[in-house]
Amino acid sequence: TALLTGKTAIITGAASARGLGKATALLFAEHGCRVAILDLDGDAAQAAANDLSGDGHIGLACDVTDRTACLKLASHVEAKFGAVDILVNNAGITQPLKLMEIAPENYDAVLDVNLRGTLYMSQALIPHMRARKSGSIVNMSSVSAQRGGGIFGGPHYSAAKAGILGLTKAMARELAPDNVRANAICPGFIDTDITAGKLTPEMRQMVLDGIPMGRAGEAKDVAGCALFLASDLSAYVTGSEVDVNGGSLI
Ligand code: NAD
Repeated sequence: TALLTGKTAIITGAASARGLGKATALLFAEHGCRVAILDLDGDAAQAAANDLSGDGHIGLACDVTDRTACLKLASHVEAKFGAVDILVNNAGITQPLKLMEIAPENYDAVLDVNLRGTLYMSQALIPHMRARKSGSIVNMSSVSAQRGGGIFGGPHYSAAKAGILGLTKAMARELAPDNVRANAICPGFIDTDITAGKLTPEMRQMVLDGIPMGRAGEAKDVAGCALFLASDLSAYVTGSEVDVNGGSLI
């Protein structure tokens, strides 16, 4: 049965063809949800929206680090869809830097997209969700937040993703009385454009050896978790961080 019939969602950073946001958008649409894809390039966002099953999806340009743009886009999508029930803060960037290589502009860029963007887009939608006493916000963190590092992200990426966990819990606490939920997903090693082709076969094998399930995740593994957190199946789940990592932290 469809889990999101009649619902609407905004998913940020969902234009990237093999990305976690796009896989989430595809699955949400299959479950009857109308989706607005927001990404840096409006044409790419619209092209991604055109790939989704069903009608009425839209793709729009929005830089999540731009507070005015977030407010404008949130109002636009609210007006167009009548309501936005679900927000997936998925836009993110990484930089493979070591601690001492992080320049101020690196820190700003990674904190801005991952952490500030999550706050700005949430702030743009929260008043609407609160007024309706209903909403689900899903924030994309990372195993890098929990392990203090991953394969690709630097320490500033770990800091940004750990910041998302704190922000998610604080949001969940403050919004709970209004029946607006906030949860975080911590993906492990997932095959996407971020990860594809960037490791030698030997390095890839080393990574896989550290994963109890012995395989990389697929984007749809993360999408399934987002679907659960977005839908009423998780009606009593808020402030949680859900690991999608093949057992990487066991
Ligand atoms: P991706 O690079 O394929 O997609 C990220 C998208 O964000 C791109 O479409 C990009 O254009 C968009 N984006 C970048 N800056 C933006 C901005 N300022 N405003 C709006 N959009 C912007 O990456 P992905 O692998 O699909 O990752 C999606 C999310 O999951 C990210 O937050 C990432 O940090 C996180 N994550 C990924 C993995 C993994 O293994 N791939 C693991 C853990 C967490």
